[in-house]
Amino acid sequence: MDIRICYLYPEMMNIYGDRGNVTALVRRCRWRGIPVDVEGLGLSEKVKPDRYDIFFMGGGQDREQVLVCHDLLENKGDAIRREIERGAAALVICGGYQLFGKYYRPFDGEKLPGINVFDAYTVAGENRMIGNVVAKSALGGRFGTVVGFENHSGKTYLGKESAPLGMVTVGSGNNGEDRTEGAVHLGAVGTYLHGSLLPKNPGLADFLIERGLARRGERSSLKPLDDTLEWRAHREAVARARKTH
Ligand code: GLN
Repeated sequence: MDIRICYLYPEMMNIYGDRGNVTALVRRCRWRGIPVDVEGLGLSEKVKPDRYDIFFMGGGQDREQVLVCHDLLENKGDAIRREIERGAAALVICGGYQLFGKYYRPFDGEKLPGINVFDAYTVAGENRMIGNVVAKSALGGRFGTVVGFENHSGKTYLGKESAPLGMVTVGSGNNGEDRTEGAVHLGAVGTYLHGSLLPKNPGLADFLIERGLARRGERSSLKPLDDTLEWRAHREAVARARKTH
């Protein structure tokens, strides 16, 4: 039962340690004896139908987002949306998250159409939202929270079709106004949380792996891992976030 991870634009969309999320997914599969492969897809490369179980895209600056936006529209967006509708999981961070909604309108330059996985849109905000974030989340596992840090000017607003990943108790989250953070649609998770996120949020990592396995018809729950270190990192990060706000 191989899990295959599609790492979208690994050279272009990978800031603030986002690559660490792929490492965490791979390690948590291998520690359980689950064979796992990672394939990077760059500009102009197509998504083969039914090939991938988990998609990942990290954050990037506006310049890379323009190039990636055009490529998604031309070569990958419809296929990725279809794969998610058919059960694939996804984790997309910040700039990647923004392109999985309806559109992202930066301060200057063209409005960037998204691939419509999330019922959400993003507009450039006046100020950058930078700092640690804690959000209460059903996908947060043991403590019911997800923690990371944010650095974005985009403000994302959710429509009725997409639920938030969680509700911030520290930090700005999607827009600094409605306390939502991130978006969830089927097995796809979008979030502003960099960090990288998954090493200190093992509950969320396992949600993605379980969805990836279910895609292959494997519905048994995952063998628990000794996450003592991961949860200690989680608690430290939450404590630091609470001190800095
Ligand atoms: N350029 C986008 C913004 O600032 C995304 C930045 C990022 O991926 N960190 O909102």
